[in-house]
Amino acid sequence: MERKVFQLGDIVQMKKNHPCGSNEMEIIRMGMDIRIKCVGCQHSVLIPRAKFEKNMKKVLRSKNAGEESQESNEK
Ligand SMILES: [Zn+2]
Repeated sequence: MERKVFQLGDIVQMKKNHPCGSNEMEIIRMGMDIRIKCVGCQHSVLIPRAKFEKNMKKVLRSKNAGEESQESNEK
């Protein structure tokens, strides 16, 4: 099972799209719970870390790394 690496400020893709149609969420708070903000509609939600890790598909853009070097896990 692959380990998911994410950090504050990252833009992540969740398994399910947000009702507004966007699937990009920004991590705006990290702790025991994680707060993410929808890039499309700016709505933010607080979810438990375990649930977040389960529902996150992948990191789209890492704030610090800038251009994310893609690992070879296409499909
Ligand atoms: Zn939204």
